Amino acid sequence: MHITLPDGSRREVSSGTTGAELAAQIGPGLARGALALVMNGRVRDLGTPLEDGATVEILTFDDPRGREVFWHSSAHVMAQAVRELFPDTLLAIGPPIEEGFYYDFDRGTPFSPADLEAIEARMADIVKQDHRFACRELPLAEAKARLEAEREPYKLEILRDLPDGDRITFYTHSTFTDLCRGPHLPSTGRIKAFKLTSAAGAYWRGDSTRPMLQRIYGVSYPERKLLDDYLKRLEEAKKRDHRKLGRELDLFSIHEEAGPGLVFWHPKGARLRGVVEDYWRKRHYEGGYELVYSPHVAKIGLWETSGHTGFYRESMFSPMEVDQGAYQLKPMNCPFHILMYQSSLRSYRDLPIRWAELGTVYRYELPGVLHGLLRVRGFTQDDAHLFCTPEQMNSEIKGVLAFTLSMLRDFGFRDYKIMLSTRPEKAVGEPADWESAETALRQALESEQLAYSVDEGGGAFYGPKIDVQVKDVMGRAWQCSTIQFDFNMPQRFGLEFVDKDGQRRRPFMVHRALLGSLERFFGILIEHYAGAFPLWLAPVQVAVIPITDHQLEYARRVAETLREAGLRVTVNDHNEKLGAKIRFEETQKVPVMLVVGEKEAQANAVAVRRHGLGDQGTVGLNECVQRLEDENRSRLAAPRPEKE
Ligand SMILES: [Zn+2]
Ligand SMILES: [Zn+2]
Repeated sequence: MHITLPDGSRREVSSGTTGAELAAQIGPGLARGALALVMNGRVRDLGTPLEDGATVEILTFDDPRGREVFWHSSAHVMAQAVRELFPDTLLAIGPPIEEGFYYDFDRGTPFSPADLEAIEARMADIVKQDHRFACRELPLAEAKARLEAEREPYKLEILRDLPDGDRITFYTHSTFTDLCRGPHLPSTGRIKAFKLTSAAGAYWRGDSTRPMLQRIYGVSYPERKLLDDYLKRLEEAKKRDHRKLGRELDLFSIHEEAGPGLVFWHPKGARLRGVVEDYWRKRHYEGGYELVYSPHVAKIGLWETSGHTGFYRESMFSPMEVDQGAYQLKPMNCPFHILMYQSSLRSYRDLPIRWAELGTVYRYELPGVLHGLLRVRGFTQDDAHLFCTPEQMNSEIKGVLAFTLSMLRDFGFRDYKIMLSTRPEKAVGEPADWESAETALRQALESEQLAYSVDEGGGAFYGPKIDVQVKDVMGRAWQCSTIQFDFNMPQRFGLEFVDKDGQRRRPFMVHRALLGSLERFFGILIEHYAGAFPLWLAPVQVAVIPITDHQLEYARRVAETLREAGLRVTVNDHNEKLGAKIRFEETQKVPVMLVVGEKEAQANAVAVRRHGLGDQGTVGLNECVQRLEDENRSRLAAPRPEKE
């Protein structure tokens, strides 16, 4: 038999060779690290016999697909331990997640920390005994009968959603069997280090009308060191949690009595938002955009025309009754910009049109998925829509991508994860238009010399797109910018422009969000900078600290001078010792502290301290103002060392 390896080389293997045997033939290192295999694009158990002519890849923990298999298998091990210790527990689902895995169980009482310890101890035995995972296929009817006999209502519900005639797989290791698509590790012994990190309530299928389940989260690794590294990162992430810092720094709040997922920006948070918005507006005007405003509600007919009441219904708030008609809280700004486009007959001379709006939208999210500022129900999108002729499309896309990256860089994000999503099977619009749009997106990425991956067929039904995730200081990737073509709405609304030859043509339309939403971006900024914002973003940029009350007057004069230079300043007039005042400003993460005593007042000078960096020496007031003004204008956003 012949198989093809990922590097394109062909290899002869004897018939019946499994993935595990192939890994061993390639080398002992790979044999030890092999977790699963990919055959003709599908991830399979490592023990699967290879097929003649197949393309084969061996997956290790370094590959995200390998990690998924590893973590999902760990969830099975955890479920076995839970079932043995708490036999009445019902099983729901146990998928891998971004880092680690969870399993949802139905059980009257939540798991206590002592329960988690007992589960970990039992898991250690199961791992040590190195049980093999074995797969068994059953026809759907038999699978149903089996789960009915075992009284597993959640598993049965999963089965009910599967198409008839499917063959169903069960995986068994040790005494534990689970309904599961697989694939799995060869055996439990591969799991060398693991930890159960937390337990929390979670609704079945994220739906608050369904039962509340008990979810246990865990992580696992093929080496002890990887677990230690992870736990360190987890500790750091906890310190940076935007919900915790939002409280400590008095930036924002969310109120159950007002409704979940709705954000209240406190004065200091609002200061930062104001700085971001001012900067955003300035850059957009400089970049050839016009800014617009549109309402928060509109008649539902508009959303019927746009198609949102069909494909987007689940993400919309229920309509409200006004004058015997239904109005809809807007989930998107696009149809409004389209109405404005249609307010007059557009000629090719009017294009490209670039309209941007800080548009507040409302989207229904299940309560279980709401998370601080990162997942909310009301948020302000920094939205823009481009309307252009087919000839202008390439340069428009190039322009919008360069614009996006230059703004992200100013916020301190220089590392990206970029994905291009192309035409899915079901799509609207002409295939030729899709192709030229995809080409424009590719060329824009290549002209910026950006590395990107392609999600073939992963685009929305209405157009291809580029998604930009920014990587924060901890290496975590956050979705921010999207550049999304739309062949659907121009058609549904009958958009036109009059071309050079007098013919009416359809313009290209592109949706673009750059920061994503202000709320979410704020959350990302807080975590990226651990609340210690660079000078240009800090809500309070400078705290002037008089050593005693005798210098209060001079301190106020210093503050006034700085304010006149456009800086955000407070005077710390607390009736406390200097050390306590400095400590307070450090906890508030104010970037610059100017300490003034008798000596400084005499010399018209200030003693400069920087957050986290300490004493920076004494300078004349004028020079200090000049330096801070320069730093503020240059938007230096490099993260500073944060020692706490
Ligand atoms: Zn499984
Ligand atoms: Zn849009």
